[in-house]
Amino acid sequence: MTVISSKIEGYLSRASWIRKMFEEGDRLRKIHGADKVYDFTLGNPIDEPPTKFRQQLKYLADNPVPGMHRYMSNAGYPETRRAVAEVLAEDSGLSIGAEHIVMTVGAGGGLNVVLKSILDSNDEVIVLAPFFVEYRFYVDNHNGVTKEISTDENFMPDMEAIRAAINEKTRAIIINSPNNPSGVVYPAETLEELNKLVNEKSKELGRPIYVISDEPYSKIVYDVEVPSVLKHIKNSILVTSHSKDLALAGERIGYIAVNPGIEKADLLMEALVFSNRTLGFVNAPALMQRLIVGLQRESVDIEEYRRKRDLLYNHLVELGFEMVKPQGAFYLFPKSPLADDVEFAGLALKHNILVVPGTGFGKPGYFRLAYCIDSKVIENSLPAWTALAEELALKK
Ligand code: PLP
Repeated sequence: MTVISSKIEGYLSRASWIRKMFEEGDRLRKIHGADKVYDFTLGNPIDEPPTKFRQQLKYLADNPVPGMHRYMSNAGYPETRRAVAEVLAEDSGLSIGAEHIVMTVGAGGGLNVVLKSILDSNDEVIVLAPFFVEYRFYVDNHNGVTKEISTDENFMPDMEAIRAAINEKTRAIIINSPNNPSGVVYPAETLEELNKLVNEKSKELGRPIYVISDEPYSKIVYDVEVPSVLKHIKNSILVTSHSKDLALAGERIGYIAVNPGIEKADLLMEALVFSNRTLGFVNAPALMQRLIVGLQRESVDIEEYRRKRDLLYNHLVELGFEMVKPQGAFYLFPKSPLADDVEFAGLALKHNILVVPGTGFGKPGYFRLAYCIDSKVIENSLPAWTALAEELALKK
């Protein structure tokens, strides 16, 4: 008896190994205790929002604004959109205003709003492996087709591969820098090259190809700055959230910014607002919209992330694991010492280490570690990593 859609049933059964990993983690925690299980699977940061967030939350609770819990314009409060636009205008040098901003239910909500607004059935969306796996589902939600393209050995976009993948069905390319899972940050030159390619192809094919820049990690960077995508790519649509930079993942607050250089940008904005409404989001959470107005230049403690990155990265490299040193986000993406990354994850589990195989990000042969966890867990895991490396005879 089929009780759910066969498509969803297929997705669930294909993802069953992920569930098995979580169940195994739970089983290990029960046997060994939570402090002896080193879980690097979840991108759910343990840090708390900045103090200023709590102060403003308290202030609003004590000084309620009449009507503050009611519906509003589907695009969001004008003062919130203005505050967001001001920072983006400053960073990009473009004249971006509230009229280019739609407040959304996180970046995930924002991506769905964009895709619903631009895709016709069977339109193609290029994604660059390794990528955030939800992209596949988001594209499918709106009857699009995901086209996966490999990046180079440093996880940078391969322009020739992108050029070869573009055809009359191509509607968008999703980029994600700082990247989940690799942690790489695209320099300005890469964005410029992509801009050139997309402009040329849009002209040739007679309709715009959009670059959707998914950047919830843009403030979590080490030693580099994230160049403004809006500045460097004319057809860019920025999607982001405060899930990571303000540690507000559960509050579901984000936004979309449309590049004013996009042809008929006002029509695209109308479509985004319509999609935000009709996907059932209606509007981004009201209280959060009020709170983030004064927090656009705030972030969690990036130095704490840097310490965690260095601790884990240095130890793993010392043991012989190979990886690109991440410049942002809070993930490491080393090469799997075994050809089969799922088998490697199984072996790591025997040392009470939980990792996500690269297969889950469209990049077999690697594995992802999320280090947005308690430093103590990272420290306590180091001997287990050493034992795992010895078992694998790394460096020999
Ligand atoms: N995009 C990437 C690359 C992510 O890693 C995540 C969350 O982990 C999201 C989007 C979704 O973020 P949000 O919580 O804002 O929906």
